[in-house]
Amino acid sequence: GAEISARNIDNLSQHFPLCMSNVHRTLRRDGKLKHFGRLQYTLFLKGIGLSLEEALIFWRTGFRAVSDDTFNKEYRYNVRHCYGDVGGDSNRRSGGSSPFGCQKILTEHAPGPGEAHGCPYRHFTIDNLTTLLRATGVTDPAVLKGVKEDTEAQRYHIACNRVFEHLHKTELKRAKDEGIMTAAQLETIVHPNEYFKRSYLLKH
Ligand code: SF4
Repeated sequence: GAEISARNIDNLSQHFPLCMSNVHRTLRRDGKLKHFGRLQYTLFLKGIGLSLEEALIFWRTGFRAVSDDTFNKEYRYNVRHCYGDVGGDSNRRSGGSSPFGCQKILTEHAPGPGEAHGCPYRHFTIDNLTTLLRATGVTDPAVLKGVKEDTEAQRYHIACNRVFEHLHKTELKRAKDEGIMTAAQLETIVHPNEYFKRSYLLKH
């Protein structure tokens, strides 16, 4: 498979769930990202296997709107903290915080104006959600209609899993036919890192 490195994140982002596509696209568009977006995304990238060294390259080059000086003073420490490279004993012992699951992203720190973290299925208006889905290649009217119904019924995971199944239709069918996927691998996805892992496995 493809290597998990700073320069490969754009390519790997085809396997991201919408919450992470959104922070990634925002970072690429603005050359910066606000606090909770950085936290959500740094921990996710750690979870997919990006090393601390590569994470620092990714964030330094991604933050093109800031100088080296500002980056080193204001952002570098937080990336290292996420990896347990700095901070208190318990943070260092545990290797930093764990990547956030859907439950946490859905319920804590709802994004305010200008913030890109959170779960688009929950935190976006239906118009903005549809625009983002289209931009990431989901244009099938039946899928978009299903997503609308799911989110209206506050079934955000179901919307996310619906999109996953749509985007991996061919691979999922093959994996099921050949009995490659275990029952656990076919359960509803409730963690962005599980979304990535499953997508990556299916497409490689
Ligand atoms: Fe991300 Fe979970 Fe929302 Fe899917 S349901 S977009 S994985 S937070």
